[in-house]
Amino acid sequence: MSSVKSIRDIDISGKKIFIRCDFNVPMDEFLNITDDRRIRSAIPTIKYCLDNNCSVILASHLGRPKGIDGKFSLKPVAKRLSRLFDRDVIMASDVVGQDAKTKAANLKIGDVLLLENLRFENGETKNDENLAKELASLADIYINDAFGVCHRAHSSVEAIARFFPDSAKAAGFLLQKEIEFSQNLLKKPTRPFVAVVGGSKVSGKLQALNNLLPRVDKIIVGGGMAFTFLKARGYDVGNSLVEDDLIEEANKIIQKAKELKVKFYLPVDILAAQTFSADSAVKFVTTQEIPGGWIGLDIGPASVKVFKEALSDAQTILWNGPMGVFEIDKFSKGSIKISHAIAEAHATTVVGGGDTADVVNRAGDADEMTFISTGGGASLELIEGKELPGVKALRVKDDDSSS
Ligand code: AMP
Repeated sequence: MSSVKSIRDIDISGKKIFIRCDFNVPMDEFLNITDDRRIRSAIPTIKYCLDNNCSVILASHLGRPKGIDGKFSLKPVAKRLSRLFDRDVIMASDVVGQDAKTKAANLKIGDVLLLENLRFENGETKNDENLAKELASLADIYINDAFGVCHRAHSSVEAIARFFPDSAKAAGFLLQKEIEFSQNLLKKPTRPFVAVVGGSKVSGKLQALNNLLPRVDKIIVGGGMAFTFLKARGYDVGNSLVEDDLIEEANKIIQKAKELKVKFYLPVDILAAQTFSADSAVKFVTTQEIPGGWIGLDIGPASVKVFKEALSDAQTILWNGPMGVFEIDKFSKGSIKISHAIAEAHATTVVGGGDTADVVNRAGDADEMTFISTGGGASLELIEGKELPGVKALRVKDDDSSS
């Protein structure tokens, strides 16, 4: 048997620790960080290392630079980190060049070094072994705390782990939480377990739906993807988003839900708009009466009521994907109300996906949720039942001390 160790399970005392972080923060045109949540959420792991008399080497990517490009430098992150920590953060001018190597070699207990953007090295996204080996040579211990990139087999995420023995690689606190909540939740949920799935297309969530079906008691479908299901049931959905090639698949899912005795909920009314724009004429209509040419861009109040009712006895709720085009205020009410309903439920509530996390934040419900996953693609892949390359790379043989 194998498992992923937590940083708490390994001996890090006095060592040099390489921490793969996710500092891929949004910045404005003047390179000011506009949202530093990802930096803040890395702090518990870094602090834990410093409290254990370690020195720390932090590494992350930022954006998608093509080679070295000052616009994608991590210098602003170093600045923010040193403010948050109230201590100097040493910045390397390269990733595995002379500067990084010298600075890493000279680290003293309590020092924090940040490497330059990992993607300044072409090998990073190619999972290059040589780059991984060079990165690994900088430190004694490898900690991955970057859930958002764990679905990518990149050098600093996957290949690097090969260069550390089992006793010297583990998940940081952030990654450990992600694994616990998203992966383990699917294995042993408290029932009733309700999945709320939305977003634009069925195609993007097909695998997730198929993986969820045998595990949940109820599935609530909203967002653009609901219209393919509604059309499959014979409704006229006007100009709403439909994937005609997936209608048969949609029917199969409905059929499978029936066989598995999973209650399958679709919107009963929607907010229809004449055009896909903020100033369009809109009206609430039942799903039986969507006018020809109109587009369904949010769920309606009756759907909110039905979905709320379905959520009321849930003990576990997993939410991935908005109920409408929440980016436009006019079409965000359904998503916001479902966010409130989930937040108020007496259940373990796990929210996955960047868009859904945005909805929850806009609704002011973030503090009420049990867990909000930080990774969009990565959290969807977990729901799809895949093991993420970055998590798999941390697997080590069980021994008596492992959990
Ligand atoms: P996804 O990336 O598949 O989770 O989809 C998120 C996107 O779905 C958001 O950008 C929403 O604007 C979009 N979306 C939600 N509901 C609808 C709808 N009824 N029609 C078109 N797009 C939608």
